[in-house]
Amino acid sequence: MPEARILPRRLLLGPGPSNVHPRVLEAMAQPLLGHLDPIFLAILDEVQDRLRDAFGTQNAFTWPLSATGSAGMEACLVNLLERGDRALIGVSGVFGRRMVDVAERAGAEVVCVEAEWGRPLDEAEMISAIERERPALVALVHAETSTGVRQDPAAIAASAHAAGAFVVLDCVTSLCGIPVELDAWGIDAAYSGTQKCLSCPPGLAPVSFSDRAIERVRGRVTPVQSWFLDVSLLANYYGGERVYHHTAPISAIYGLAEGLRVVAEEGLEKRYHRHASTARELIAGLAPLGFEPLVEAEHRLPMLTTVRLPDSVTERGEAKVRRALLDRHDIEVGAGLGALAGQVWRIGLMGENARSECVDRLLEALRAELG
Ligand SMILES: *Cc1c(COP(=O)(O)O)cnc(C)c1O
Repeated sequence: MPEARILPRRLLLGPGPSNVHPRVLEAMAQPLLGHLDPIFLAILDEVQDRLRDAFGTQNAFTWPLSATGSAGMEACLVNLLERGDRALIGVSGVFGRRMVDVAERAGAEVVCVEAEWGRPLDEAEMISAIERERPALVALVHAETSTGVRQDPAAIAASAHAAGAFVVLDCVTSLCGIPVELDAWGIDAAYSGTQKCLSCPPGLAPVSFSDRAIERVRGRVTPVQSWFLDVSLLANYYGGERVYHHTAPISAIYGLAEGLRVVAEEGLEKRYHRHASTARELIAGLAPLGFEPLVEAEHRLPMLTTVRLPDSVTERGEAKVRRALLDRHDIEVGAGLGALAGQVWRIGLMGENARSECVDRLLEALRAELG
């Protein structure tokens, strides 16, 4: 393990983590406070308020959980599902598949609607499955980082509500990169991560639960299988009383507070535009090199672009080219996963990295390697 001072400065253009804003790193180096210190609790309040803005919600139960995005996923599913409940899950990539695994481990009877990798779920198919299966819970991924596909949740969520189901939305990659409107869409539980479009280090999972979801948890017949993720216990710390539950990761929360201030200073609308315009620059710049986007324009995510690889890359070996980008240019890009392994790269322009300078650096490096 090299000493910290000689670690390279990589440009992180993969599926996350993305580079951290320098103000976030500075905030994380501030002196430690106790997790019940009034000054720290004021910072936590600020984080909760700013997360509500980012999620587009008034939900009181909006918190930064002390673990990564996957724990946010697990928290939403294990609180809202009891053994034997039926869950309908949309699967169009790795993260939908992970939700199936988590829900099955929670004892749910899982029904999947699948889409081809690189395509969104078919709304009509989801809605007819909701009407047929009458699930207790419907879950889907807003921004599928394994394929670069954007899923519009509004119509599916409306149909799920009409059928009396709770709706869970994965916003790990979408939060602060494309609009998230939990209240307008009627989402009951959502989760995110700090290392994608928030440009903070990995380690926290912003989550948000509607009052209706919390009532459901409080009315459970059996206790939540996970003590750590039981929101009825977590509410005693993050909610009004501020009673010890576990020791909050103080420094990580300083970092998130600063990251959210940076977001607020820019403004969400401007941030969404910046992500969209930088993705267009990337696609235009890659075209002459022979890279083509996998996903149709209307379903493409701006913060994560999957591109089909040209012969110039596959002939050299795609893994070797990625390694050369890393070793010679300090640039990380992501490999294809699952069905797309070896066929695509996943290029992330998330948060601070959604800037023309990052696109230019990548294009220059690719020209040097492939020219
Ligand atoms: C990254 C990611 C996750 C998992 O988050 P971790 O922080 O890696 O645990 C879940 N869902 C999506 C869509 C993601 O992109």
